[in-house]
Amino acid sequence: DNLPRTMKTFSIRQSQLELEEELGSGQFGSVQKGYCTLKRKGRIPVAVKKLNSDDKSAEEEMLKEADVMRNLSHQRIVRMIGLCRADCIMLVLELCPCGPLNSFLAKRKEMKQSQVVQLMWQVAQGMSYLHSKNYVHRDLAARNVLLVSENSAKISDFGMSKAFNIGNDYYKAREAGKWPLKWYAPECVYFWKFDAKSDVWSYGVTLWEATSYGGKPYKTMKGNEILKFLVEDEMRLKKPDFCDEQVYEIMLECWQYE
Ligand code: ADP
Repeated sequence: DNLPRTMKTFSIRQSQLELEEELGSGQFGSVQKGYCTLKRKGRIPVAVKKLNSDDKSAEEEMLKEADVMRNLSHQRIVRMIGLCRADCIMLVLELCPCGPLNSFLAKRKEMKQSQVVQLMWQVAQGMSYLHSKNYVHRDLAARNVLLVSENSAKISDFGMSKAFNIGNDYYKAREAGKWPLKWYAPECVYFWKFDAKSDVWSYGVTLWEATSYGGKPYKTMKGNEILKFLVEDEMRLKKPDFCDEQVYEIMLECWQYE
């Protein structure tokens, strides 16, 4: 599965695409289910992320996301099939029919913890690959883990991902943006510093969401309250009811301050 891409061109014509129902909506537009017809593979099911905005910066964001995805090829990472430039820009992705992990598990509370842990192990493999390619994800959360089936998870949404700085092992944000603070390590919030370790923190929160079957971390707490809770009070999210001690130990390790 980790063979290098042989297909160098990622450009897709609109005539290759058939669009069907909406799967969800993103920051800049909708995501639709559909089919893409490719010379080598034939007609394959896809998810098409449309940019419904003529804002130049939104376009740039989407092209950056495509640029990151172009460099990734792993069984545990949603594949980019290509980019279609028609009336709007469309990012054509491998389809994950069972959708986001959090909403899937909220409807499947009878699923065994061991199976949930298996899915999270797959996420760990995908993240390990991402870090080996010198990228930080910066938005790892259960909503961004998509399921192909109940036994197969893939990491998605590379809209915030960045390559590490050359010579440094981290990415320094130039300004604070719309950040998923509940998933962020304290150094992200304090110093805008992102690295493999801050993704590990987010992985811990994602593991908490998964083992609580789509539970919402920190309930109604605000960003500054969470920082006080974590840093001043040295508190952490509680062990979800059905979660094994051993798995909770992993979360606590992900959330070590140092
Ligand atoms: P944004 O980055 O703007 O939040 P996402 O990439 O998270 O957008 O996509 C929004 C929603 O679209 C997701 O929550 C999911 O429901 C759906 N979606 C996105 N990509 C896929 C995919 N490859 N397969 C199935 N559904 C998808």
